[in-house]
Amino acid sequence: MSNNEYEIIIIGGGPAGLTAGIYCSRARRNTLLIEKGLPGGQIANTELLENFPGFPDGISGFELGQRMEQQATKFGLKIHYAEVTALELKENLKVVRTTEGDFSARALIIAGGMERTKLGVPGEEKFAGKGVSYCATCDGALFRDVTIAINGGGDSAITEALHLTKFASKVYVIHRRDQLRATRILQEKALAEPKLQFVWNSVVEEIEGEELVKKLRVRNVKTGEKSYLEVAGIFVSIGFKPNTAYLKSVLPLSDTGHIVVNEKLETPVSGVFAAGDIRQNSVWQAIAAAGDGATAAVYAERFLG
Ligand code: NAP
Repeated sequence: MSNNEYEIIIIGGGPAGLTAGIYCSRARRNTLLIEKGLPGGQIANTELLENFPGFPDGISGFELGQRMEQQATKFGLKIHYAEVTALELKENLKVVRTTEGDFSARALIIAGGMERTKLGVPGEEKFAGKGVSYCATCDGALFRDVTIAINGGGDSAITEALHLTKFASKVYVIHRRDQLRATRILQEKALAEPKLQFVWNSVVEEIEGEELVKKLRVRNVKTGEKSYLEVAGIFVSIGFKPNTAYLKSVLPLSDTGHIVVNEKLETPVSGVFAAGDIRQNSVWQAIAAAGDGATAAVYAERFLG
């Protein structure tokens, strides 16, 4: 076997990929995990996970990711930091092309997760990193004692809005409906938080400023009325899309771009599995992704025989 040949390659170092890594390494399979960002994937940007079993006081997503990585590498998992750009899937060999070279394996577990959906409004790109952020855990502390906004009404937006109240003096929560999608316990916390000001039935039409963000043009979708909110920044938290752009020509994807799998998490290509948020019908929860990682690893191990 050359340096770049493995028995199993795992794409993605979130809960699904790292759990698969723990299982594959403990099965003594020569396994490589390829990750483009931080260990933990999306959870690395999560302030506090309160629903991951085993941590009654919650655990920071960053720490959980680090711990999972530590556990996997302890059993021999190798981790390479690079971005996957293409796959070549042959019967007996799966070639993974990355920004740092090519790697191959007999079995492949794709656990590349999802990335933040962009708002797609004028100013969003221009002010990215200059007031527009997609990560409250990473950038929240940059907005001390100022007014900021967060867009979205799901679990992520509300968790992040609550986190941002530690720093900002006021946080507008701009949501396109008049009811939050977030789970009840988060809604209760958010509605009781005096620093949060809800801007219901509204969408952001434009992000304006000079060097940095200064204001948002917001439209009420019920009345059509337009208004300006003066803010020093906006956090965009309107959901995620699967990281499957490079898979379009090699694997069947669902209408939403997720990888189609059966109950063994097998794709239609023999020896290729998908686990976690990237696969069709995932419930998008860290614990479910970890479960998927274990399932995919067990079936990949059986595939290798
Ligand atoms: P999500 O549940 O899909 O919510 C996205 C939010 O953004 C919704 O409120 C949606 O509005 C809004 N939205 C979507 N597109 C929009 C657009 N173009 N313009 C304006 N608003 C838009 O996404 P998420 O909150 O990131 O959560 C993703 C998954 O992770 C969920 O399954 C969630 O349960 C899970 N998660 C769980 C936790 C936790 O358990 N503590 C924490 C974070 C995430 P509508 O409501 O009108 O559709």
